[in-house]
Amino acid sequence: MRASGTPDNAVVARAPGKINLMLRVGPPRPDGFHHLLTVFQAVDIWETITVAPADEFSITVSGDVNLGEIPLDGSNIAMKAVAAVAARLGRTDAVSIHIDKQVPVGGGMGGGSADAAATLMAINELWSGGLSQVALLEIAASLGSDVPFLLEGGTAVGRKRGDELKLLHSLKFHWVVVPSPHHLATPEVYRRLDEIREGIDVSLPGKIPSRLLDALYIGEPDILTPHLINDMTPAAIALYPEIVDTLEMGLAIGARAAMVSGSGPTCVFLATDSAHAQSLVALCQERGHHAVAVSSPVRGAHLVSPRSGPSGPG
Ligand code: C5P
Repeated sequence: MRASGTPDNAVVARAPGKINLMLRVGPPRPDGFHHLLTVFQAVDIWETITVAPADEFSITVSGDVNLGEIPLDGSNIAMKAVAAVAARLGRTDAVSIHIDKQVPVGGGMGGGSADAAATLMAINELWSGGLSQVALLEIAASLGSDVPFLLEGGTAVGRKRGDELKLLHSLKFHWVVVPSPHHLATPEVYRRLDEIREGIDVSLPGKIPSRLLDALYIGEPDILTPHLINDMTPAAIALYPEIVDTLEMGLAIGARAAMVSGSGPTCVFLATDSAHAQSLVALCQERGHHAVAVSSPVRGAHLVSPRSGPSGPG
């Protein structure tokens, strides 16, 4: 499959957004990152990346989400992903990168990290780099804490910065994603969290609650609900108090649970099933909120147009 208008020698890959079902944040580390214990789940909202050989580097972006704050130079994480693979493979050739976005920008759902994960897949294919998943995971961790998970997808426990992963089994869940017109910068939310918790013991729990694992294993929203927790919530609310109204709306219209996604301000509502998610979307829209029904878990970054033929890895 090839997107219309895409050159024949282009490679297309996509990667999902993520939500954190449980996000426990420990103390800051000497390197400025925070110790985490989290459960990630990949949701079916996709970032699609097209890379093609070009005379000079370029990056373009399209999508239905607010694109205002996306850098179109070497500071874009997709460009950094290309540079990291180029350094590993000793390549210097230029490429064009096109990003088609569905994941809310600056919303706490890992959109930039998904761009990096899909770009790693695509550029490894374009250059017939032959990098293994293990090698790609190593490069992914150097690009951002959530990038390894978005390469893997599915459901996983994340430790350390969130980059040390243990994959979990999970049946399907249905959610409603409510993006916000406001963006939050992740480092700022972590900084505010440290301020709010100054002087408080914030040591992490040693393990994931076994009932949370049971809920995932049997796909039971009722068991999952009491274990949905996000330590970033007070900091995200302090920076953007309107989040409270969105969470209250979710509960008022009958969501099983309402939580902030990652560092926010996107909120996610847990639904009973697909029909319930669709009815929650309609109720959000009646109240003037854009909302999208999604399901989880889904696979991680993958090629949409794998090349075949003598030059491809097969
Ligand atoms: O790893 P990533 O580049 O996505 O992280 C963005 C920022 O979020 C970091 O620069 C840091 O300020 C904060 N962060 C953190 N602890 C983590 C992950 C991210 O403090 N475990």
